[in-house]
Amino acid sequence: DTGTGIEKIPASELNRIKNVIAIMSGKGGVGKSTITGLMAVSLQRKGYKVGILDADITGPSIPRMFGVKKRPENIEFGLIPPESSTGIRIMSLNLLLDNEDDPVIWRGPLIASAVKQFWTDVIWGDLDFLLIDLPPGTGDAPLTVMQSLPVDALVIVSSPQDLVMMVVKKAIKMSRIMGVPVLGLVENYSYLVCPKCGEKIRIFGESRGKEAAEQVQIPYLGSLPIDYKLAELCDRGEIEMYDSDEIKRIEDWVKDLERL
Ligand code: ADP
Repeated sequence: DTGTGIEKIPASELNRIKNVIAIMSGKGGVGKSTITGLMAVSLQRKGYKVGILDADITGPSIPRMFGVKKRPENIEFGLIPPESSTGIRIMSLNLLLDNEDDPVIWRGPLIASAVKQFWTDVIWGDLDFLLIDLPPGTGDAPLTVMQSLPVDALVIVSSPQDLVMMVVKKAIKMSRIMGVPVLGLVENYSYLVCPKCGEKIRIFGESRGKEAAEQVQIPYLGSLPIDYKLAELCDRGEIEMYDSDEIKRIEDWVKDLERL
């Protein structure tokens, strides 16, 4: 019991999941799904067994980023999630739609119940890490998802245009309600490296993420630049091919996950 009247729901008996990490943001488009994907890639490269539960039901971009199109297999005990080319298990509403371009027009409670089914009715099997790409925002849908699932830690993604302090404060409130630690804040789109001179251009102005994190005493995990190679790979479904200094930095953040 979370002490909030909402009880944790049991997973399929076939699942043994060691760590559940939820990734949230204040609004859509800040790169939450991309960072979830990169964290999964990074953990998988270290030899962990990883799954991604795509709870961003209204904008599910995880399957496309990994080039996964196969439908989950429906067997007597539940749904078996398809695997990416490197073996990351993926479950998303998009994999159940007849046409991935179909819009999903649902309200919060329905979103939360669909996501709960991704926990109760999906046979994840043995996983070291299950990453949950939460619905954007800090409203009811992400809160209910986090309350219903046994989340071990929370990662916040922001961008320099965000009202980052507000997002961080709401995230901390959520984490208190649930009694789960905030692993830290990641800032995306922090700068662009000029391909000619290597200078860092701060398109959206100075970043405020580090300051915000320090103010409320949560760890600042770091920042990611705008990288067109990353965007291209995501569009082609090849995020697993991404190799850059940035992914090395993500490897540093995931070290914190290993200590959980
Ligand atoms: P969110 O999950 O927050 O809605 P996404 O992860 O879907 O955002 O990212 C939105 C778009 O921005 C995608 O097309 C993605 O490929 C692109 N993107 C995200 N992060 C970066 C980055 N650091 N550099 C370049 N493109 C990025």
